[in-house]
Amino acid sequence: MFTTPRRVLPNLACLLCKQASRTPVCQWCADDIQWLAPPGEGENLLLKPDIATAVAHSHIHALKAAAWYSWPFDSLIHALKFSHKFTLADYLCDAFLQQYPVNQTSLPDLLLPVPMTYRRYWQRHYNQAVEICKALAAKYQLRWEPQWAQRTDNRLQHTLGREARKQHAQQAYCLQPLTSWQTGSPPLRVAIIDDVVTTGQTVNNLAAALKAQWPSMVIEVWTMGITPAPGQRRC
Ligand SMILES: [Zn+2]
Repeated sequence: MFTTPRRVLPNLACLLCKQASRTPVCQWCADDIQWLAPPGEGENLLLKPDIATAVAHSHIHALKAAAWYSWPFDSLIHALKFSHKFTLADYLCDAFLQQYPVNQTSLPDLLLPVPMTYRRYWQRHYNQAVEICKALAAKYQLRWEPQWAQRTDNRLQHTLGREARKQHAQQAYCLQPLTSWQTGSPPLRVAIIDDVVTTGQTVNNLAAALKAQWPSMVIEVWTMGITPAPGQRRC
């Protein structure tokens, strides 16, 4: 059984069922989440055939995620993404940490959040991937870099179908020069951070851009949820 993280937080009700709870998600709701691996037994999810065939990963060495992006986990990410529920970034990362404990996980040198378009940032005032990245960096004691890439295409991923996302992701990003990388050695191992991976095209294209500059770089993707491919929907 997955144990909902026991962090002292100012909420008094479960964000999903609204019943009394000292944690953002009560144990009853947490039991309904479809976790991808038992706590402490996290692995490279690209070793799972159903995930490897659905997620683009030609430039990605490893994929790590907490749960399937289905009820009720999708509601948590949606609340973080669209309703300013920043408490959930901490909860989601605690859940990730339970599956990938610090002492059992080979850690990257740098965490890189998936960037957001300026237009979207202006509308929302925050990037949920950055909020997740900040929480992960604190828990794993890792460096992170928020300004490492810039989106050059303003179309929104979640409004596109799987095929349209594939086209949209191509050449949608350009990397920014980073002072620490210019003056020192580039990181050998990085993790791209996102809230949800659906087709994997976005993170795979970001990984391709990194590989173009640093061919020997080991690139992982850390995400909170993975969307089941069509035909693999879980109810
Ligand atoms: Zn609940």
